[in-house]
Amino acid sequence: MKIAVLSGKGGTGKTTVSTNIATVMNWNYVDCDVEEPNGFIFLKPEVKKTEYVKIPVPKIDEEKCIRCNKCADVCQFNALAGTKTGIIFFDKLCHGCGACTMVCPVGAITEEGRKIGKIDIGNTESIKCMRGLLDIGEPMAPPIIKRLKALVDEETTIIDCSPGSSCSVVAAIEGVDVAILVTEATPFGLHDLKIAVELVRQMNIPFGIVLNRADEEHDLITRYCEEEKIALVGKIPYAKKAAVLYSEGKLLIEDEEYNKMFKGIGERILGVKACS
Ligand code: SF4
Ligand code: SF4
Repeated sequence: MKIAVLSGKGGTGKTTVSTNIATVMNWNYVDCDVEEPNGFIFLKPEVKKTEYVKIPVPKIDEEKCIRCNKCADVCQFNALAGTKTGIIFFDKLCHGCGACTMVCPVGAITEEGRKIGKIDIGNTESIKCMRGLLDIGEPMAPPIIKRLKALVDEETTIIDCSPGSSCSVVAAIEGVDVAILVTEATPFGLHDLKIAVELVRQMNIPFGIVLNRADEEHDLITRYCEEEKIALVGKIPYAKKAAVLYSEGKLLIEDEEYNKMFKGIGERILGVKACS
């Protein structure tokens, strides 16, 4: 079973929810927030293997090239441009689709791998952990996310997604069994939550909501869940002890009250799948 944890906006506590639930429920953890993977700060796994992720990019043989421009014309991403002196290749724009290689009439294009990031694989005492890390300056996260997901086995796994609702999030939540949307009780939180709800509804993924930093005064998320008939699977209270544990790089489940709370959330997540 794959459980994606996402949030419409950054800073809602998505990684806090992911790492604590993964540990307390003994579920494996995959950090797909490849531009800023910080789950390992809290889980502190021992990294046992690193795999580099490459995408296939064209390599043009200038001797064979007849300057026909067909490769530049077919490229949907403007990664190739024809000039008087030959073809110019902009590697960061290339999506590795292979179309240019296919259309070249003289076989002047071969493919070579270009490294865009890496995957770390390891474990804590109780769970398996993986994270993707996009190289600085690289624009394309989905190839790393797809590779990470291909490495996920059949065991129950938490997939910690990027914030927002970009193509990185779509790549991370594609094919999951359940999605958990982490939010906060602010107008911005609700605004971005609605976008995330729209996304998981469009993708037909059963989902529930976890409200982080909840307090008695602000109930706009609770009301929204009631109005939309969405399962509110957990409320994590606004408390100084959570902030202290977080700032020390510790899991909140070290505290008995939070331990019980996250176990309850984990069990209710299983209920979201069962009710779908
Ligand atoms: S592999 Fe695809 S994206 Fe890259 S240069 Fe060729 S046509 Fe463009
Ligand atoms: S399609 Fe092949 S021959 Fe034509 S410009 Fe591109 S590399 Fe050169």
